[in-house]
Amino acid sequence: PEQSGTPDHALREEYAQLAEEIRAHRSAYYQDAAPTISDAEFDALFRRLEELEALHPELVSNDSPSQEVGGEVSSAFTPVDHLARMYSLEDVFSLDELTVWLERATAGVEQRSPGSSIAWLTELKIDGLAVNLLYRDGELVRAATRGDGVTGEDITHNVLTIASIPRHLAGSGHPEEVEIRGEVFFPTKEFAQLNERMVAAGKAPFANPRNAAAGSLRQKDPAMTAERPLDMYVHGIGARTGLTAETQSQTYDLLRSWGLPTSPYYKVLADQRAVVEFIEHYGDHRHGLLHEIDGIVVKVDSFALQRALGHTSRVPRWSVAYKYPPEEVNTKLLDILVNV
Ligand code: NAD
Repeated sequence: PEQSGTPDHALREEYAQLAEEIRAHRSAYYQDAAPTISDAEFDALFRRLEELEALHPELVSNDSPSQEVGGEVSSAFTPVDHLARMYSLEDVFSLDELTVWLERATAGVEQRSPGSSIAWLTELKIDGLAVNLLYRDGELVRAATRGDGVTGEDITHNVLTIASIPRHLAGSGHPEEVEIRGEVFFPTKEFAQLNERMVAAGKAPFANPRNAAAGSLRQKDPAMTAERPLDMYVHGIGARTGLTAETQSQTYDLLRSWGLPTSPYYKVLADQRAVVEFIEHYGDHRHGLLHEIDGIVVKVDSFALQRALGHTSRVPRWSVAYKYPPEEVNTKLLDILVNV
């Protein structure tokens, strides 16, 4: 095992190189939607960085990749500040790690709010692109990418071409102001057809539906976005004035009643065993869903308990992403890409 203590020169070098490499991959992934390594390879680099930082906390600076939400804002778009910050998610890569995380969150809740029981809102981790929709009095006034979490890219015109995102909310009693976060994705069926068309036209296919969603949404010309069959499911809310729901799942019910697209797949589960069963179920049935997934997201459902647990500068402490092991099929797709 590696030793903690003062990092020597070689270790500082390794750390600096790793941080640089991670920044370059983030830029290729978020800015250009053209990653050069697989997500599993990227996750391994990131994990190594976190390991080094855990052993040598003095290496961590404010601009370390572990302290920042990865995305950047391209100069091709108008920058917009989110009203409330957008976060990434902490990852776990095995059921053992997940159990440790669930126990830690449970202990955190017990410490801050003794006697509370936790309901786990368990969702599919949609392999798409996060967007932030700002509605004022029921009208969509702005849509932005996540960017670095503080500032995103204005993609309002592109988002308005997505049929399932309402310009005016249905019903009544809308909050004065609410930021609705969701994942824009390329539906699985249409993704296969898109890639067939790309190859037939002599173009390189997209490596995965996430890249296709990002490439389609971050177009200068909304008419290009309109040609792509993008869809979205809501998975969170940000700043809000005049919204009274007490849990995230109740909020989804409300949003659904206003015509916003909510996922057909999430569940509110009372115990950890049920969370693990949910993960195993979708591990066996991860294909044939409406969208691709790269894992499962588990959230503390109560807003009061979410507030009690809080955030780091990069991730909420009330939510975690379980990542499924990488699949063979990704490598095959990459081979196709390389050979085009
Ligand atoms: P992430 O994708 O691991 O998790 C955070 C995001 O998950 C959220 O911002 C949200 O958009 C999304 N999400 C999907 N379903 C959700 C749900 N139900 N509830 C809440 N959020 C949901 O983190 P990230 O910061 O977006 O990016 C890291 C990911 O990008 C990793 O998977 C990493 O492998 C990949 N990446 C790859 C490369 C590369 O070069 N291959 C480079 C950078 C990042």
